Amino acid sequence: MEQDERFVKQITPKSVDFSRWYVEIIRKTEMADYAPMKGMMVIRPYGYAVWEHIQRLMDKRIKDSGHVNAYFPLFIPESFLKKEMEHLEGFAPEVAWVTRGGQEELEERLAVRPTSEAIIGSMYAKWIQSWRDLPLLINQWANIVRWEKVTRPFLRTTEFLWQEGHTAHETAEEAQAETLKILYLYKEFCEQELAIPVLEGKKTAREKFAGAQETYAIEALMSDGKALQMGTSHNLGQHFSKVFNIRFEDREQNLRYVWQTSWGVSTRLIGALVMSHGDDSGLRFPPQVAPIQVVVVPIALGNWKETVLPVAEKVSQELSQNGYRVRLDRREEFTPGWKFSEWEMRGVPLRLEVGPRDLKENRCVAVRRDTGAKESLSLESLPRTVPDLLKDIQASLFNQALEFRNQNTHSVQNYEEFKDIIESRRGLIKAWWCGEEACEDKIKEETMATVRVIPLHRDNNETAGPCVCCRKKGQELVFFARAY
Ligand SMILES: [Zn+2]
Repeated sequence: MEQDERFVKQITPKSVDFSRWYVEIIRKTEMADYAPMKGMMVIRPYGYAVWEHIQRLMDKRIKDSGHVNAYFPLFIPESFLKKEMEHLEGFAPEVAWVTRGGQEELEERLAVRPTSEAIIGSMYAKWIQSWRDLPLLINQWANIVRWEKVTRPFLRTTEFLWQEGHTAHETAEEAQAETLKILYLYKEFCEQELAIPVLEGKKTAREKFAGAQETYAIEALMSDGKALQMGTSHNLGQHFSKVFNIRFEDREQNLRYVWQTSWGVSTRLIGALVMSHGDDSGLRFPPQVAPIQVVVVPIALGNWKETVLPVAEKVSQELSQNGYRVRLDRREEFTPGWKFSEWEMRGVPLRLEVGPRDLKENRCVAVRRDTGAKESLSLESLPRTVPDLLKDIQASLFNQALEFRNQNTHSVQNYEEFKDIIESRRGLIKAWWCGEEACEDKIKEETMATVRVIPLHRDNNETAGPCVCCRKKGQELVFFARAY
């Protein structure tokens, strides 16, 4: 067992240094590695498998709600970005430019897309003529480049993967309904597939997307007490349609500008999975997106290849045939203890141990990654008990994260208390805010906390208190936190 302990000891405990723990886990589990270029990462097969499950499950939800996929160019002419100054200025510090093609200087610089509103808007202007062309509901899966100064694998890298939806509508009401529909689609996705509870709400003017009328977001509390923005949905109003001249003939034959939305989630969600569920032993994947859902470990004792191994093979084959992602760990160079800690580190939700003693009774041992609980299961019952256990693990990870968020959501009466909590315990602070940017700025400067979301619904019994910062009348009851 000494060897096994060493294996896990190589990870810095979460409580000692969260940032180091995060990076070590990602590298040791082979989810990602640093690329030779600063700020860039390679998503390795184990990490990419998680992205593929996110993609598959998200894509289904996007299509089921009436959207279709397309693909737009990686490069955007500078003049397109310049048409919309607020948008360009918002992204200017992060844009990478192409100035040469082969040997030739380009006549016009090309931006590597930091987002695609401009290029998609220019195409929508061609495609949309009449109200019959609306709504136009397109999504694209793509890579994005933003030249970031401070980077961290999955959370902020120069290049990342995402989906971006871009829709056009006849009326303002339809665009607003779409914006909220996607916000709730994202919320459900995060809670049901990633087992991460999120708060949904509106962003303040200061935090909104460059060029948007309103930005809505989902936010989650990571296990170090910092918030992470998990996805955004923007109501663009007619801002881009006026810039790119996206007009349609309405039902009364008047020429009008369309109403637009855009929305996205990215590979950042993988970072959220690590930070929400991971512990000192490593990752803990919710079964829905786990690269491997069940690992079967035959215990190599005596003539195990004749006795234990065939049973372990049969067990894993049956589960695979039932649609589960199963790995049979038949490696001979490692002890069972080593294998246990390796699969724990890799976050596999369920481990089945098949050993000679259990086999005599036609049983095996099941160990849950979420709780560490062990139970003996009859081999016959596996097609029934494994699905139940996986469902239970999925729910239990969500409940653990929800409980953590509840325990780390604080209501404060005054600014002193606010500062004290942000310094000592972090977490989410629910407090009244006057709505003034001056207070928002002051709070950010003094505590590094920002307004994460303005909730969309307020309990009727919550009577307005004074702004936590300036004591003037509170306008909104909001969630503050330090964030990634
Ligand atoms: Zn104030």
